[in-house]
Amino acid sequence: MSKKYEVVIGLEVHVELKTKSKIFCGCSTVFGAPPNTQCCPVCLGLPGTLPVLNEKVVEYAVLAGLATNCRITRKGKQDRKNYFYPDLPKAYQISQYDHPLCEEGYVDIEVQDLSKRIGITRIHIEEDAGKLIHDQQGGTLIDYNRCGVPLIEIVSEPDIRSAEEAKAYLQKLRAILLYVDVSDCKMNEGSFRCDVNLSIREYGAKAFGTRTEMKNLNSFNSINRAIENETQRQIRLLESGGKVVQESRRWDQDKNKSFSMRSKEDAHDYRYFPDPDLMPIIIDEAYIENGRGQLPPLPDERKANYIEAYQLSQYDAEQIVSSKELADFFEEAAISVKSPKIAANIMMTDLMRLISKSDDEDVVIPFSGQSFASLVNLIVDGEINTSIAKKVIDKMWKDGIDPVEMVEKEGLKLIKDESMLTAVVTEILESHEKVVQDYLSGKEKALQSLIGQVMRKTSGKADPQMTKELIIKLIKK
Ligand SMILES: [Zn+2]
Repeated sequence: MSKKYEVVIGLEVHVELKTKSKIFCGCSTVFGAPPNTQCCPVCLGLPGTLPVLNEKVVEYAVLAGLATNCRITRKGKQDRKNYFYPDLPKAYQISQYDHPLCEEGYVDIEVQDLSKRIGITRIHIEEDAGKLIHDQQGGTLIDYNRCGVPLIEIVSEPDIRSAEEAKAYLQKLRAILLYVDVSDCKMNEGSFRCDVNLSIREYGAKAFGTRTEMKNLNSFNSINRAIENETQRQIRLLESGGKVVQESRRWDQDKNKSFSMRSKEDAHDYRYFPDPDLMPIIIDEAYIENGRGQLPPLPDERKANYIEAYQLSQYDAEQIVSSKELADFFEEAAISVKSPKIAANIMMTDLMRLISKSDDEDVVIPFSGQSFASLVNLIVDGEINTSIAKKVIDKMWKDGIDPVEMVEKEGLKLIKDESMLTAVVTEILESHEKVVQDYLSGKEKALQSLIGQVMRKTSGKADPQMTKELIIKLIKK
């Protein structure tokens, strides 16, 4: 990033809600069905049909709003957003214009140990469009299954200043929605996707620069690259005396480049007007309070609890709550583990290493928190050390074995038997006379080298503290 310019980013996130049926008809929302098998006259936009709002959509949107600290409107309405595109058979999308369900919320993020609050301008409900499939013969096919799948659009304030902050915000938002359980948030199936609004300005400038919008990014990786790339493109433009044009751009993941799609419309281009077929959405206090009562403990609350109850570091706690699976896993382990802090350490290192290797965007751990707790307890009790624990956890991940059984069966326990260790230490001392002399002449490093030899000889199973004491004792004899 240039020292002269600051990047300003606002994100619009589209999230498909996990209702069983669509927003205005009874068609199924299940992903992956054969094309055009989940549509009816309503979602195909045939003349004479009437939409009926799915109540569950309002419930989920309100829950999402409450979980992101939004004010819930008492009177929402739905509007027609008019535009033509082949994936939108009605030639308008039912969305919300000036009375969205939720407004003025925020999400707190943590980047490089600093907390930052990202404002949420609004959350509104709308219907998804169909899907165009460009086939290899150069034709275009259309699948209307997605037409009318309920969406919430979550619009952030332009509070984001880097790709890193954008990622932290999206991860936090996704985690919150998964906790509240209103969407499966599968990025690879398009149920959590993001438009990036980006502009640059000189540091210290008050006014925003002209922004561009990059549409439908659906992986953290492409969002990151698109932001870096677009920032550089705008800087180059301004530096060469050019001007940024307000437009929508398409990010091409393979070419690592964005392309101009069309000049960006303003709201008035859409000729919004209230949908005459749909009633206002009246929400009363009791409804909102009922929703508030349904909210599960959210990431920030759980994080504070881990720091207070288990003395976890800010960073570890933040990482663990970043996914509901991880947090649930940790809490299950915490019930029977003798040191939650050591459990968190092993999660941050060995478990994260295994999780990051898997392609799945969701965290899937193939063993229980309880099983993990018994592994950690072996460490706490001094039965095994962390390098043996690493071997065991790899095997648990691969074969789902029981850690206590494996340690027993493969003889992985640390050697604490004094006569056994004495024999090994004596042998090492006899065969490394020079190192022993070095130690006696005051080289502390020599001791480490002798401990290392004993470890090698015992495949890392010698109890380190005992080994050290025995070496010192036997040398001084
Ligand atoms: Zn339908």
